Amino acid sequence: MNDRIFNFGAGPGVLPEPVLHAAQRDLWNVASSGIGIAEHSHRGKVFDAIIGDAERECRELGGIGDDYEVLFLQGGASLQFAMVPMNFLPEGGTADYIVTGVWSEKAVKEASLFGAVHEAGSSKDRNHCYIPAPDAIRYSASPAYVHFTSNNTIYGTQWRTEPVPPAGVPLICDASSDIFSRPIDISRYGLIYAGAQKNLGPSGVTLVIIRKDLVEKGPRTLPTMLQYRTFAKEKSLYNTPPTFGVYMMGQVFRWIRQQGGLAAMAEINEEKARILYDYLDGSRIFRGTADPEARSRMNVCFRATSEDLEKAFLAEAARRGFEGLKGHRAIGGIRASIYNAMPRSGCEALVAFMREFEKANSGG
Ligand SMILES: *Cc1c(COP(=O)(O)O)cnc(C)c1O
Repeated sequence: MNDRIFNFGAGPGVLPEPVLHAAQRDLWNVASSGIGIAEHSHRGKVFDAIIGDAERECRELGGIGDDYEVLFLQGGASLQFAMVPMNFLPEGGTADYIVTGVWSEKAVKEASLFGAVHEAGSSKDRNHCYIPAPDAIRYSASPAYVHFTSNNTIYGTQWRTEPVPPAGVPLICDASSDIFSRPIDISRYGLIYAGAQKNLGPSGVTLVIIRKDLVEKGPRTLPTMLQYRTFAKEKSLYNTPPTFGVYMMGQVFRWIRQQGGLAAMAEINEEKARILYDYLDGSRIFRGTADPEARSRMNVCFRATSEDLEKAFLAEAARRGFEGLKGHRAIGGIRASIYNAMPRSGCEALVAFMREFEKANSGG
């Protein structure tokens, strides 16, 4: 049928096949211009239309109002870990972070370089296998903002609904691994950021959705490239943007819209996750690591009864065309990342293989 295998990698991850076909064509010659997408000036008409489309599609998908800017930046989510406190954590202020995994910890580390951080909640006591309950979250007296990670890529947990910050305090979210995998109420957020390489496109471009009143809050003494206002004012064209990444994101947004938008995407993603978790719940050799009510629909993390069995499983899986299943190097185990672009057939094929593997390795 085709020469591609199932890629369960955590990121860069699988992309929608129709998008890849369009990119193949447009790398050669985009919009009948005689020039490929990676070769166009970012100041020309062709790219103008492409970035305009990408923003429009993004706004439509997310129901993003005129009171928000949609920015295409670089530096990955990791640069946002620093840009957020640089812009919004004033001297003498405190920022509240809810720590639910490695990425939140990294965000805290960067914020600590600029000011005081209050850990408003944490799931560390049980190795980040759950999401703190609302009544376990304790905000500081007057936080500059509240930061959380909507999906914990490494531990495989995901918030069902966003935490509610104290009135008037902006909610800031690292949504790198679940953005646009389900409906989102943008109006609850001050800023949402996501590196593209999990649900939105290739690495190298970072989507930032920011409420307009926050854009102007950052100090003007920061380097120009680290101020949100620079990119808001210049429509992400202050310097050369990641043009190919922006093009790809636009294509992915359109593809999501063609799937039926975010509500339809959420239904498909839930179904895909259910296929895997249902199997895991009945398995005699594998077990999911996250608490059931906190399970991620994007990253399904599990262990086998022994590390040797995990090794054997990963090797056999790779041989059978299931790639990227090794758990993050920080925690080991097995992880199936099933982002938007992973088809349901990929989850079904993986479960069929796991059943077979279980039968061959459980003495029954
Ligand atoms: C992958 C990931 C990151 C890191 O993104 P970079 O683009 O590599 O900086 C940050 N946060 C989350 C939740 C992630 O999944």
